[in-house]
Amino acid sequence: MTQLRTDLLPADPAGIATAARLLRGGQLVAFPTETVYGLGADAGNADAVAALYAAKGRPAENPLIVHLPDAAAAQPLARFPPHALRLAAAFWPGPLTLVLPRADSAALAPAVSAGRPTVALRVPAHPLAQALLRAVRRPVAAPSANRSGKLSPTLAADAMAGLSGRIAAVIDGGACAIGLESTIVAVDAAQLRLLRPGAIGADLLAEAAGAPVTAAAQDPNAPVEAPGQLATHYAPEAVLRLDVTAPDPGEVWVGFGPGCDGAALSLSDTGDLAEAAARLFATLRAADRLAAEGGGRIGVAPVPDHHLGLAINDRLRRAAAPRE
Ligand code: AMP
Ligand code: MG
Repeated sequence: MTQLRTDLLPADPAGIATAARLLRGGQLVAFPTETVYGLGADAGNADAVAALYAAKGRPAENPLIVHLPDAAAAQPLARFPPHALRLAAAFWPGPLTLVLPRADSAALAPAVSAGRPTVALRVPAHPLAQALLRAVRRPVAAPSANRSGKLSPTLAADAMAGLSGRIAAVIDGGACAIGLESTIVAVDAAQLRLLRPGAIGADLLAEAAGAPVTAAAQDPNAPVEAPGQLATHYAPEAVLRLDVTAPDPGEVWVGFGPGCDGAALSLSDTGDLAEAAARLFATLRAADRLAAEGGGRIGVAPVPDHHLGLAINDRLRRAAAPRE
């Protein structure tokens, strides 16, 4: 792969205009959303999409989320059953991705769907993402702006650290407010399946859609519905242990809530789940740096398994999964 100069672009009209020009020219640009930083490519340009897979080292079977500025721009790309229209009306713009039957006429590079008959669509709310998508005027494929298998970036510096030399630019929009990747729900005529938990919980989805939301198949022999959801994802370099209330000697302890005296770092001193989500990936990166100087091990205090805690624990379990 040729070494590129990766520019850090300011979050102003000039930075957005430069980013839009680069994307329209088939280059790759990382940009902030309210969830995490995404790595954008023109979703209609097969070469740009191929370059995106290469820059991330992303397996070819892992499809991409296509980003649009509004629901009207999303409409021609997929068939929206009534449930999907209700979810789009309720949660777009916002941290929700809908996996829908792809429209035959959708002008998207086939690799976006990685061989599936579906396409994942999202309308992000972040003002910079909105401004960029409006300026590009094309659907933008944007997986998280990290090398495949690594922690998602929630700061421009994290995207830069992972992808510098491999992409054209990063827009610096500061820290991402939510900090966890979007909720992904697959919608077909009959049902709604939660493929990835996120800030919008299954209860809210079911209420807005007027239909139950089932969890994606957990049967290891079932076909994989969201390949990016395979176990060893979001991995720090260190070995990570969960539900740690008493750290082992040499283990970097990441606390949650009061009562974690002696923890090197904390997801939230007060036990605030929104704060913990926003800080999760940056804290794991910081823990990883500390662990690299010591025993190479991280222990994370228990995080309650409700509301945003469900999505936080989903990411923590993947970070703790045994590595291949
Ligand atoms: P990322 O954008 O890095 O958060 O990854 C995108 C996630 O969306 C991955 O887990 C993909 O497997 C999932 N995804 C994207 N498109 C589809 C699709 N057509 N069907 C199922 N999952 C998808
Ligand atoms: Mg990702």
